[in-house]
Amino acid sequence: MRIAVVGTGYVGLVTGTCFAETGHTVVCLDVDARKIETLRAGGIPIYEPGLEELVRRNVKERRLTFTTSYAEAIGGAEVAFIAVGTPPGENGEADLQYVLSAAEDIGRHLTRPCVVVDKSTVPVGSAEKVAEALGRVAQHPFDVVSNPEFLKEGAAIEDFMRPDRVVVGVASDRGRAVMAELYAPFVRAEQPVLFMDLRSAELTKYAANAMLATRISFMNEMAALCERLGADVDQVRRGIGSDRRIGHPFLFPGVGFGGSCFPKDVRAVMTMARHVGLDFDLLRSVERVNERQKRWLVEKATKHFGSLAGKTIAVWGLAFKPKTDDMREAPAISVVEGLLGAGARVRAHDPVAAEVAVRLFDGRGVVLADEPYAAAEGADALMLVTEWNEFRQPDLARLKTLLRQPVLLDGRNVWDAAKVRAAGFTYYGVGRNVS
Ligand code: NAD
Repeated sequence: MRIAVVGTGYVGLVTGTCFAETGHTVVCLDVDARKIETLRAGGIPIYEPGLEELVRRNVKERRLTFTTSYAEAIGGAEVAFIAVGTPPGENGEADLQYVLSAAEDIGRHLTRPCVVVDKSTVPVGSAEKVAEALGRVAQHPFDVVSNPEFLKEGAAIEDFMRPDRVVVGVASDRGRAVMAELYAPFVRAEQPVLFMDLRSAELTKYAANAMLATRISFMNEMAALCERLGADVDQVRRGIGSDRRIGHPFLFPGVGFGGSCFPKDVRAVMTMARHVGLDFDLLRSVERVNERQKRWLVEKATKHFGSLAGKTIAVWGLAFKPKTDDMREAPAISVVEGLLGAGARVRAHDPVAAEVAVRLFDGRGVVLADEPYAAAEGADALMLVTEWNEFRQPDLARLKTLLRQPVLLDGRNVWDAAKVRAAGFTYYGVGRNVS
């Protein structure tokens, strides 16, 4: 099939590349000319494990091309995916302007009947708005499909190629048939393609993210309770995770959730609910706990030192999670800003997000070190914010000589508390009461 993907970000680039990998001809379009130039020159604008090799192969075999021209991307396309951003607008609502403008541009450039697929995370009812936008300008018939994306940054290729399930909202047989054909190579191990109505598909994406965010905030609240009651949250986590009704994923306490999806999607659900007269109280608490949790590291350090004024704090990890360079709503931003606000100096390291961080903290005096131990040099304490693998087994003896004071604040509970304490460090973990 000939496929157009509109929006070549984390989702669009992965989607386009994976469809090309199964033999389709894919044109990825973006309005960001620099992004398209980078891709055309053989570069990858984002960090995502395995993506570069896949893009390169499909470009070489002429199944994958990049453009800024709607005429080029949409002309002849049988399927057009919309994968543009849906950032939070005013009042927490998802901002649909990019989706609707993409829909209109697609409509204007159709040269044949086309299935238009909404892959962006959009509020319930958006498919109808997309159909309206297309209908105003299109000269050819179209079907609108909702196909929310569940990939995780850092494991996006694997998630796309081997999804737990594919959710497809359809209102026509043609839309259903085209989507079944497109996804057939990815669901050979009998993962379900769940066809449903458009509104249910749109809400399923938000429900999934809201549920995962709820698990995280639940565990962060439980960690706070453990700290006060003298229990150890790791043991409690193992104890409940082994229950098959609960399971282990997303039960890790830490410094709060971030990224481009969970915070905005939680807010979007609350806004959608409010519009129909429902107060989604539970999610308000999820958000409140998360905001508090993002302050945990700075509060612990302040309590330890009395004041952070004039102190130097090393920060390991800036990306919102490991294996990505994405810092959108990363807890590290709150941590660094909290430290600067308290008068501390910050020396930080992240294996891949440094370039993003330079732009984000521009002119604010944050030192970005090339490697983790350089960040720790001369610092009064070290905070772990993102649990990159390379931070999991630190050289404690080396850290001891580099840090001015042996204080470790483990925002992700990855260090062996007993071991670091035995090495002479003062250790703080989230909800960990272990000696
Ligand atoms: P992104 O910001 O990385 O990419 C969006 C791209 O769309 C940008 O490159 C932007 O220049 C481009 N764009 C904006 N308006 C355009 C237009 N009119 N025409 C063409 N291109 C346009 O965003 P993302 O992280 O890929 O997210 C895209 C959508 O997918 C969002 O709705 C998001 O919530 C959802 N989603 C994201 C993830 C994730 O992990 N990032 C996972 C699942 C779903």
